[in-house]
Amino acid sequence: MEKRWLAHYPPEIPHTLEYPVKTLPDSLRETAEQFGDGVAIDFLGKTITFRELWTRVQAFARSLQALGVKKGDRVAIMLPNCPQAVISYYGALLAGGIVVQTNPLYTEHELEYQLNDSGASVLVTLDLLYPKAEALRGKTPVKHWVVTRMQDYLPTVKKWLYPLVQRKQKMPSVQIEENDAVHWFRSLVGQNEGAPLPVAIDPQEDIALLQYTGGTTGRPKAAMLTHRNLIANTLMCAHWVYKCEKGKETVLGVLPFFHVYGMTTVMNLSVMMASKMVLLPRFDVKQTLKTIERTRPTMFPGAPTMYIALLNDPDLSKYDLSSINVCISGSAPLPVEVQEQFERATGGKLIEGYGLTEASPVTHGNFVWDGERVKGSIGVPWPDTEAKIISLETGEEVPSGEIGELVVRGPQVMKGYWNQPEETAQVLRDGWLYTGDIGYMDERGYFYIVDRKKDIIIASGYNIYPREVEEALYQHPKVQEAAVIGVPDPYRGETVKAFVVFKAGETCSEQELDAFMRERLAAYKVPRLYEFRSELPKTAVGKILRRTLVEEEKKKLDKS
Ligand code: AMP
Repeated sequence: MEKRWLAHYPPEIPHTLEYPVKTLPDSLRETAEQFGDGVAIDFLGKTITFRELWTRVQAFARSLQALGVKKGDRVAIMLPNCPQAVISYYGALLAGGIVVQTNPLYTEHELEYQLNDSGASVLVTLDLLYPKAEALRGKTPVKHWVVTRMQDYLPTVKKWLYPLVQRKQKMPSVQIEENDAVHWFRSLVGQNEGAPLPVAIDPQEDIALLQYTGGTTGRPKAAMLTHRNLIANTLMCAHWVYKCEKGKETVLGVLPFFHVYGMTTVMNLSVMMASKMVLLPRFDVKQTLKTIERTRPTMFPGAPTMYIALLNDPDLSKYDLSSINVCISGSAPLPVEVQEQFERATGGKLIEGYGLTEASPVTHGNFVWDGERVKGSIGVPWPDTEAKIISLETGEEVPSGEIGELVVRGPQVMKGYWNQPEETAQVLRDGWLYTGDIGYMDERGYFYIVDRKKDIIIASGYNIYPREVEEALYQHPKVQEAAVIGVPDPYRGETVKAFVVFKAGETCSEQELDAFMRERLAAYKVPRLYEFRSELPKTAVGKILRRTLVEEEKKKLDKS
């Protein structure tokens, strides 16, 4: 396989990297030794140095061991971004455990599934989320609940944080009694001074993380990511943004750490690069703008919907965003229109990358500094990462320009799915990860994602890629967000339906949109149905959930 993309690498980015054989907590220890006084975390104005962070991580690890956590035991963490999330993550790993990241917005049912599937024996969570966990007592293997309060690191819980717990609802007031099974986080990090018992970890083989995925496409399953997988991807990130200087950067942490994208590009990267991470527990446009002005981050990894929301804030120009050098957009396609507007507004660079949970997550990116970046492309494979496009019919590699499934191979690719040998065999073959994404590679080795295999709409025998239709909708000046799905149609098999959110104060008729779309797309791709909404369903990282829209349509049909 010819790696054409390597010809475009600027000299600063090596084609291959050396991956030190170490664990994630090793990288925190090293940073604490070298940059002890450096600020590791800024949490709404309250700061913690790397030395303090390492001390608390050790105390937490020691306490987990005292609760019986041994090598390979699963420790579930259900927290929004806050210092406790970082301490729990590194502490659980240092104790020898495997971290299971859990979304705080999970329903009881989703949480029950995940705790049982992973076999977690400890759950670390917020007091405000504890009622959900308590309701599952006896229904999961959890033996110990570690509970923390936002107030442990913040004097008050601010109103804009309410949706952290229950969308749009006021925070419940929660009474919790400490006992043999329920422990306060605060006392666990305040006691058991000194190093925890050493645990022999093989970074190459031992799992660091069970990261659940598939929520947008099917039943959740856990990707097993080893220390090496995560260290390798973090190191690739650091090399990719090579002008980022150790001990000098500030990274805005608004992507949730319970998703692998925020975990690698903000948390693990900051620890490895001794950067200050500025934590925001949820994405709120005004708070994000204010925080950028206050903390002057140099890097801001995010999702397209975040950049869209910021761009559409009427007060955007009142904030000073000039500190931002690099924004990395991932998790969903970045509309070219949005990229250009955002760069004009901030003066920084907005770079599109690509990845998936199963690859820790990043496999491709556009060049940040030197080197050509191609708008609309996910860029080129990262160092030590191989990629090719294979035919959906034959499984053979296709020539450049032809569409097929993207498959990738590299040190960041997972070991497999936890307890799911059949699912693993479907996506991992000879070390190649079958991404389920459809795309192509151009002559020069740049890659493009056309869509997800599962999201293709087939109308009257034509393949329609929702993403292409969405791109056209985004070009309309009144459209803020758009999602396109296929809905059943008695004549065409499926037909194209578009869900549209207009910019604040804007509206437009179906006829106007239809005329606009007909100018840009072949007739068979133009939506036949429109639904205008005030918002679209999204994942925790801000990815629009087409699947939810499909399910809603299905329910409507079942009722009629
Ligand atoms: P997750 O495992 O939740 O991180 O989701 C991974 C999926 O997000 C990929 O398989 C793609 O379908 C999608 N994705 C990530 N980055 C991009 C991108 N730049 N363009 C298009 N789709 C993307």
